[in-house]
Amino acid sequence: MTGSASDATVGVIGLGLMGSALADVLMTQGFDLRVWNRSREKCERFAASGVPVGDSAEILANECEVLVVCLTDHAASMDVLQSGALAKRLEGKTLVLLTTMTAEDSLAAAAWAAENRIHYLDGAILAYPREVRDMTCMIVYSGPRAVFDACKPVLDAMGGMPRLVGDEAGTAIRFASAIYTVYYAHAVGMIQGAAMCTAAGAPLDVFTELTTDYWDWPEDDVHLLDRIATRNYAVQEAALEIHATAFGTTPPLCDQLGVSSELPRVIAGLLDEALRQGYANDELPALFEVLSKPGK
Ligand code: NAP
Repeated sequence: MTGSASDATVGVIGLGLMGSALADVLMTQGFDLRVWNRSREKCERFAASGVPVGDSAEILANECEVLVVCLTDHAASMDVLQSGALAKRLEGKTLVLLTTMTAEDSLAAAAWAAENRIHYLDGAILAYPREVRDMTCMIVYSGPRAVFDACKPVLDAMGGMPRLVGDEAGTAIRFASAIYTVYYAHAVGMIQGAAMCTAAGAPLDVFTELTTDYWDWPEDDVHLLDRIATRNYAVQEAALEIHATAFGTTPPLCDQLGVSSELPRVIAGLLDEALRQGYANDELPALFEVLSKPGK
């Protein structure tokens, strides 16, 4: 990429819950944005706002200087990136891969990018789409410092808090897995507590007050407990399937690192159980329904 990235043409591939939030903030901050999504419906809102929609991922890659990819999983990302002559169209440009992946996926993607002379960064998103839109979303990146610095305006625009945590591919996802463990252990603990209170006939609002106000825990917890109180699990931010896929990479990583994977396995097992019980397309608080019944 040459010149300043603030006037760079940015392409976003994937307009799901997270990709559309990334595209929204790039659009509102005045970037020359282009988008592409496999199913055209998700592009319509952007097209209506005057954002050009690529006829294919390859055409989008041809038109942009920085390409951001945020799809369900790494296999989907590589399917798209290896389709047609897309890699050729990206030569000399910057690819920012924001799909959740494993450290091995990150290393393989970086090697693929190097073979194709594509500047490459990948990032792990540590927040929900609403935080991207509020510009309070930290995304941790790994890759060459020069690539990070060259497209910093684009990275700043996507959530406001980009952090380079290492120049070696795989570093960001390893770091993010540690943070995800803190988040899920906390969230699952809150949901387990809510299930215990409800089953004991204790008031959920007092539980909420004590765990959030008294302990001064964040707004997120209040939101989570409100969703349980109203049994409103409709997806607004992230489907349980996305949580389960993303966190599923943590137990094997712990095994590789030679640390205990017991706690991550319990959490991953509960997320998988929620999928088996039919909550794949609900929000995380739906785990309440799983934890409100005796385990196996
Ligand atoms: P999502 O709402 O389910 O969107 C998934 C996107 O991937 C859709 O645009 C979908 O296209 C596309 N896709 C799936 N398979 C594809 C394929 N084979 N070819 C082309 N496109 C394909 O998921 P999301 O919540 O946006 O999550 C996206 C990524 O962000 C995941 O890796 C997730 O771990 C990460 N993330 C999400 C959150 C969050 O809070 N949502 C937080 C942190 C990280 P269609 O519309 O055509 O189906």
